[in-house]
Amino acid sequence: MTTQAQRALVIGAHPDDNEFGAGGSVAKLAAQGWDITFIIATNGNKGTHDQGISPYTLSETREHEQRAAAAALGVQRVIFLRNNDGELEPTPQLRAEFALYIRHFKPSLVFTHDPWKHYMLHPDHRAVGFAVIEGIVSARDHLFMPGLGQIGIGVWRPEALLLWSAETPDYVEDVTDFAEQKFAALREHRSQLIHVDGWEQRVRERMAELGREQGYAAAESFKRIVV
Ligand SMILES: [Zn+2]
Repeated sequence: MTTQAQRALVIGAHPDDNEFGAGGSVAKLAAQGWDITFIIATNGNKGTHDQGISPYTLSETREHEQRAAAAALGVQRVIFLRNNDGELEPTPQLRAEFALYIRHFKPSLVFTHDPWKHYMLHPDHRAVGFAVIEGIVSARDHLFMPGLGQIGIGVWRPEALLLWSAETPDYVEDVTDFAEQKFAALREHRSQLIHVDGWEQRVRERMAELGREQGYAAAESFKRIVV
């Protein structure tokens, strides 16, 4: 990736998705001086198998965990949209909301879920992926949301969109020096990972596998779309 410090916007459905999808790449950009914003579309209030915890407590816990994880990566700010977990749809409203953040923050890179990933069960991952992709078009073209232009919130065209968990990845980022930061961030999501045995080993093996062809010890891969 380019070494000139710029801005990136990373949009995930749930607290922890950004770290799993792009944590190493985010830490690498942050180390290069980039200004990075996380947007978390839902409050993650269904992400537990613990019968004793209420959705209200869970969503509050997960915001704390997400702030700590973002700080561990060097992310400047986290925006919580607080939609209910599992109920997102790629509505024109969600698309417009993402477009507004893109116009506001003017990122050169936008990261999100690949909504075309086959057999991906979680509906929020698809909804966010589609709404971000469609939001980029609304952010970029001036005849979308013309009222915003009239109050000075003009169009913005990111350089590229990077989709994690990609169906057909075509871009591999070397994150060898940033893997430990990714794991430190992931470990902040205690409510999610405390009951999952072996997750760290599985993620390590996956990152090693993704880097093997290029000779990187650890990598993240994406579908890269030039906007
Ligand atoms: Zn998720």
